[in-house]
Amino acid sequence: MSALPPELEAAVAARLHYYRDLGVFSLYRRCDPDPELQLYRLTHTNIESEPPIPPRTSTPEALFTAPVPATLPAADRLAALDAIRADIGDCTRCPLASQGRHTIVFADGDPNARLMFVGEGPGADEDLQGLPFVGRAGQLLNNMITAMGLQRSDVYIANVVKCRPPQNRTPEPDEANTCMQFLWRQIEVVCPEVIVALGSTAATYLLGGKSPLSGLRGRIHQVRESKLIVTYHPAYLLRDPRQKAEAWKDLQIAMRELGLKPPKSAKS
Ligand code: URA
Repeated sequence: MSALPPELEAAVAARLHYYRDLGVFSLYRRCDPDPELQLYRLTHTNIESEPPIPPRTSTPEALFTAPVPATLPAADRLAALDAIRADIGDCTRCPLASQGRHTIVFADGDPNARLMFVGEGPGADEDLQGLPFVGRAGQLLNNMITAMGLQRSDVYIANVVKCRPPQNRTPEPDEANTCMQFLWRQIEVVCPEVIVALGSTAATYLLGGKSPLSGLRGRIHQVRESKLIVTYHPAYLLRDPRQKAEAWKDLQIAMRELGLKPPKSAKS
């Protein structure tokens, strides 16, 4: 027996047929906690433009017989992330596959993290160890996380591209655009409250357009269900440590959004 009311079930079926006709066979649950909004999206078929968020007119209970969990349960998130990693496989979708990569660097950290960091792509250390941010920039990122009163294991860390670009060059647009589908899926599963984009590449691909970092820092952007804060890449901070104070200001915005207070020893 279906757990959905007939109106919603019909809308879901129609939308699935529509996607199948388009050749889309894999669908991933977005972490939209508002069932009424889901129904609105399903029943308004103008795919060209995203509909405005409708005002709430009734409680979710009026639309669903059973409450819909806002996010995937913890155990499911780990499995969902494993499934994404499995989909990546021994990836050859972009040129980085044949440009000297040793390991696909998927992510590190807590699948239930409230805070996610997104970098550009693995460097030499990450390529060897299979984990993001484990080299010198990673040491600094660890220090930044500690300054926030957190441990690395409390957060989730991933990159725009999962394979090391040769000579640590910036990923080409076709490489980043090919790989972003996996980062979006990771974001959907983890559904962090706050994402910190580390540097211009992460900001560009998460926000969908290139802007100077100076214009993106210091304010809160919205990306899907998460708030996005932009700050300097730790590798840049290693080259110009004077900017660390500015980066700390960005991290404090993230902390405010998460309701975190810095530990006593962290500078204010
Ligand atoms: N720089 C990045 O952007 N990501 C890493 O994982 C390491 C260095």
